[in-house]
Amino acid sequence: MNSAISIRIIVIFVAIILSGLASPAGTTIAAAGTTGQTNQGNASPVAASRVEVPEPTPLALQYRRTGDWIWIFNQAWAILLPGTIAFLGFSARLRDLASRAARGRWALTIGLYVVIYSALVFVVDLPIAYYEGFIRQHAYGLSNQSLSKWLHNRLVGISVSTIVSVLLATLAYGLLAKSPRRWWLYLGLASVPLLAIGMLIQPIWIDPLLNTYGPMKNHELERSILDLAGRAGIEGSRVLEVDKSVDTTTINAYVTGVWNTKRIVLWDTLIAKLEPAQVLFVMGHEMGHYVLGHVIRTICLTPLVVIPALFFVDWWGRRLIARHGRGFGFDRLSDVASLPLLMMMIEIASLVLSPAALAYSRAQEHEADRFALELTHDNHAAATGFLKMQTENLGIPRPGIVFTLFRASHPSLGDRIDFCNDYHPWSDPPR
Ligand SMILES: [Zn+2]
Repeated sequence: MNSAISIRIIVIFVAIILSGLASPAGTTIAAAGTTGQTNQGNASPVAASRVEVPEPTPLALQYRRTGDWIWIFNQAWAILLPGTIAFLGFSARLRDLASRAARGRWALTIGLYVVIYSALVFVVDLPIAYYEGFIRQHAYGLSNQSLSKWLHNRLVGISVSTIVSVLLATLAYGLLAKSPRRWWLYLGLASVPLLAIGMLIQPIWIDPLLNTYGPMKNHELERSILDLAGRAGIEGSRVLEVDKSVDTTTINAYVTGVWNTKRIVLWDTLIAKLEPAQVLFVMGHEMGHYVLGHVIRTICLTPLVVIPALFFVDWWGRRLIARHGRGFGFDRLSDVASLPLLMMMIEIASLVLSPAALAYSRAQEHEADRFALELTHDNHAAATGFLKMQTENLGIPRPGIVFTLFRASHPSLGDRIDFCNDYHPWSDPPR
């Protein structure tokens, strides 16, 4: 469910891309692999240990099919809910309320409007979020979460997103007021520093509100990982373990942060369920993101998606207001009452642009897989690790074209296993 609001003005596109690097809720599948043994280099008997891609279980198929309907519902809801609020003139009444309470002060009106709107959407979305995030996850055996932890996570989520939304909305409406013709360009360019700041503070200020991050408990494994990091050319890297077992039974790992908050985070579920050699492949993949500069590159490329999206929002928004302004109760985009209208258009734009962003993400994930294989030379560990991920996360090895286009931030597990089976140039005979 999409309860966050204006944070999405910028974050929505990037979230898709970064979901592979910093996946928030176990919804994405990062990288995993296993190793029969950790071989440091040459000629592993890869051909002999080819890993077959198994058929998905009936439970995994059911999880996917029901998940598809939920996804369609969520997309429609994320467009219909703000659209309804705008088109019925309800947003203008909310703005009057906020403006009266703020005694007409500009910034306070925007802040209050965003707080009221966020709270409203949060409450409306709560039953659906409860079903999707709690009931359903437990029904499929994917969750360990207590109801109080789930509620805690929701409340932290809405608090953080409201604060970020207030700041972003103030910036966006400030630009809309000062430069009604070029605001989309300036906001698009501002997405780079904004994201960089977000990525800088998220690991230290926001993530710890949800889970406990600490040093790895298995020191032997930690030593192997630091050893691997040394070979990958990463000095003094931070590897943290997070207690995701309080939330989920699924497995994952990710890189996050920029500059001095850069880190690789391993879910404790992953450490518990994978063999050490498989964990090392996963780490190799995450180190690949790190060494290949994926986080920074993604942040720098963000304006390429955000600027066209905001340009479209500006263009279409003017036309909608010209035609329906009377019903909306506002006559320009710089009125904060336009927020739900902006949200609706941003959802549509992000749906249209998501195939491009996701294709970029998949290419980046593939690069990280290749990096990990070249680092570990452990094809068997890699392939069996993905296999384990398929079972533990109720994955579908070959999800089909529509899913791939609109939802897959990573190559399919089937493709990743195939690649791990076939990619071993170091052991191929020289031509
Ligand atoms: Zn990755």
